[in-house]
Amino acid sequence: MTRTSGFSARAAVEVDVVHIDGVLLDEGHEMVFTFHIPDSKEGERLGFGGWFYSSGDIETEVIGSPGRNVLTTNPSPDWNKVGSQWVAEADPTQHVELHLRARSDTTIAVFGLQCGIIEHEYLTTARPELLPNMWNYAPEGNFYVDARTGKVTLEADQNLARISDVAVLHLKSCNRCGRFLPVNVNNERAHLSFSNHCVADHRRPCQHSGFGRIREKDSDRIFDLEYGFQLECRFCKKFEVNAAHNPQRSTAQMKEDAQRRRSFELLMEHLYEGSDQLRYRHQTGGELADDIYARFDGRCFKCETPLSSPADMHLDHTRPLALLWPLDETATSLCGTCNSSKRDRPPIDFYSEDELRDLSDITGIPLDVLKDPSPNLEVLELLRTRATWFFEEFLQLPELQEVRDGKRTSELLLKALDKALQRTPGGAPFTMDDLRRDE
Ligand SMILES: [Zn+2]
Ligand SMILES: [Zn+2]
Ligand SMILES: [Zn+2]
Repeated sequence: MTRTSGFSARAAVEVDVVHIDGVLLDEGHEMVFTFHIPDSKEGERLGFGGWFYSSGDIETEVIGSPGRNVLTTNPSPDWNKVGSQWVAEADPTQHVELHLRARSDTTIAVFGLQCGIIEHEYLTTARPELLPNMWNYAPEGNFYVDARTGKVTLEADQNLARISDVAVLHLKSCNRCGRFLPVNVNNERAHLSFSNHCVADHRRPCQHSGFGRIREKDSDRIFDLEYGFQLECRFCKKFEVNAAHNPQRSTAQMKEDAQRRRSFELLMEHLYEGSDQLRYRHQTGGELADDIYARFDGRCFKCETPLSSPADMHLDHTRPLALLWPLDETATSLCGTCNSSKRDRPPIDFYSEDELRDLSDITGIPLDVLKDPSPNLEVLELLRTRATWFFEEFLQLPELQEVRDGKRTSELLLKALDKALQRTPGGAPFTMDDLRRDE
């Protein structure tokens, strides 16, 4: 696990080390933690859960969880996690039990066993499709309301001898919610609250600074990890998209987005048509998709999800269409989720430093160009020199004169072009109104 560090100067993420006291559970005996779920109203979100350690072989069971629940079974000695969350019904669950039975003499330690009412703004603003599997984000996704937690009690069929310093647990802070949550540095794949960073064979060991190396706070001991851990806990990672950048969009807004995109694509095709110095390499969709799919090893570049075929891939412009970049051989392979979370953002607003470097390697776009959030200045210049054509011919095309939901496509396009112009370093060189007056 711990590799020698060599000469790499990668930054290490500091983790807290906590030593946890526990009890001795004799072979054949059982201890039961009971989560007393507080009173709730129908529709409120409830949950229970936490982490537990055993040095020896144990049998585990959850009784009374109203829906599916997490209960990991990492071979001992190791940490495991348990929990669930659900929406309260009219006749709410009152108790959930966690049973631990010793198959041999074992020490047991627990961390963060809690239950109660759960509230979080991500949970109230998320798209409903994201919520049915929330049980699977317990216990790290259980944000309890302080004043509305329930008791957790312990019973056993023997006297439990207390033992100090039974287990060590590493706690890493989440970049978004700031909580310190368990990471499993000795068994990385068995995530306790952070997903792994580099899973694919060709990406391991994780060499990313801030992800692949951690340092214990007190001992300064360094762990070079094989898979590494994400900067955000699983809960925050799941809702990251939602949180920062993806306010819910209505169907009308999405239709408008599509209308605007089509008008940009049309403009690019016409602008580049017959132009020698600027070639709009408009390969047929099929060829381009096959090339990009192969170049990205059939995976989503952002989350590495394998995509079963090019048809499954979302071709992303890399540099956004909204800033007048065409879809060409520098496109990025994304899954549907990552593509919709990226939306119109330039790469620098969506990818990490490491990802930008990887993306530059794969697409051939130089790193400094990739990081530049400017609009496509060549297209803007072309537009300026062809203003008469733009207003008198292009905007008069039937596609541009189409009115949907009370909005004329040409008007949407003009507004969107002004937006792109405003992204020019040093401010907009002209507005579409200027252009109309001057033509
Ligand atoms: Zn978090
Ligand atoms: Zn990594
Ligand atoms: Zn993805």
